[in-house]
Amino acid sequence: MIKRQIYMDAHATTPVDPRVLETMLPTFTERFGNAASRHVFGWDAERAVDLAREQVAALIGASPKEIIFTSGATESNNLAIKGAAEFGREHGDHIVTQATEHRAVLDPCRTLERRGYRVTCLPVDRYGRVSAEQVREALTDKTVLVSIMAANNEVGTLQPVREIGRVCKEKGVLFHTDATQGVGRVEIHVEEMGIDLLSLSAHKIYGPKGVGALYIRGRRPRARIAAQMDGGGHERGLRSGTLNVPGIVGLGKACEVCGQEMNAEGERMRGLRDRLGDGITGQLSDVYLNGHPEERLPGNLNLSFAHVEGGLLLIGLKEIALSSGSACTSATLEPSHVLRALGVGDDLAHSSLRFGLGRFNTEEEVDYVVGRVVQEVTRLREMWTAHRSEGAVLKTA
Ligand code: PMP
Repeated sequence: MIKRQIYMDAHATTPVDPRVLETMLPTFTERFGNAASRHVFGWDAERAVDLAREQVAALIGASPKEIIFTSGATESNNLAIKGAAEFGREHGDHIVTQATEHRAVLDPCRTLERRGYRVTCLPVDRYGRVSAEQVREALTDKTVLVSIMAANNEVGTLQPVREIGRVCKEKGVLFHTDATQGVGRVEIHVEEMGIDLLSLSAHKIYGPKGVGALYIRGRRPRARIAAQMDGGGHERGLRSGTLNVPGIVGLGKACEVCGQEMNAEGERMRGLRDRLGDGITGQLSDVYLNGHPEERLPGNLNLSFAHVEGGLLLIGLKEIALSSGSACTSATLEPSHVLRALGVGDDLAHSSLRFGLGRFNTEEEVDYVVGRVVQEVTRLREMWTAHRSEGAVLKTA
């Protein structure tokens, strides 16, 4: 019998914060107007959207005019990458990215390759980092875009965004960052970091699913991209389609809450994460950390347990919602492309678990998870040892 369920998969998604839900509710009923309508209902919806635009902009140090609402980070990434490539086609045909990006970046790059663009996919070090120097060396006079994520969704590694932004500024190349996992969790400032295009998503920061935003630098210098969706000319012609007012209002509120609580929450997440990590590694041997020991998201812990199959471990821990590899790829048997890029061998990649701590996790939950992980890993290792010695007996018999 499962007595309780514990959610520890905050990189896959997060629950809507009650404060966010409360702000959204009237926009389904009394404040239901179409933000493009020119009457009281429309103006009311437009005001709600304007406030959300300010709230999103404030969290990343942008101006509200620089925020375009989308259906989430997948769409923002597609718009940024395909839009920048298309707009820059006369100047060049080269894009720089890196190996541990989410598929929502790698796949648009692949599509562009099929359309005749050239893509350089930089390798990462064993912690999952690229350096600004690597980016500098990859740039050519045909480079139109650099796309490097702020924080990785599997191993939590933070990229040196500020340094990469500086290199791109020097060379006059557009810099896009998929900051889906970073926004609201670590400090991100588009001006200070030299970011031209930034993708974010509401459902990773306690907002609703199916809504996100793309920041597009408006000045010094203005970033130009080509629209990928034609229609009614919403969002300054860059993203046609009736605005998802409830979602946008929720995203705005989620950003506001993150802005107010991010520092304290980060400290708390780091404390819980270290309690979890220390608790597990203090009781089990042959456990390896994936990702950077310091330059990582505060709520992320990705561990490989030698001699244990990650899938079996997940089944054994079924009252705890965790992920082996990325949620998007765990349906396949392929080891995650992220762990592979870090040089983690197939066996250890298959034995990895991703813990994603979030706003609503407690110390009590962490202690429970420590106990259950230690218990399950020990049980599976004993089975594995018994199985191996049986095999050895069979062989010598
Ligand atoms: N980029 C990263 C780094 C992500 O973690 C995710 C979500 N797994 C996405 C993009 C896609 O975001 P969305 O679900 O909003 O399309």
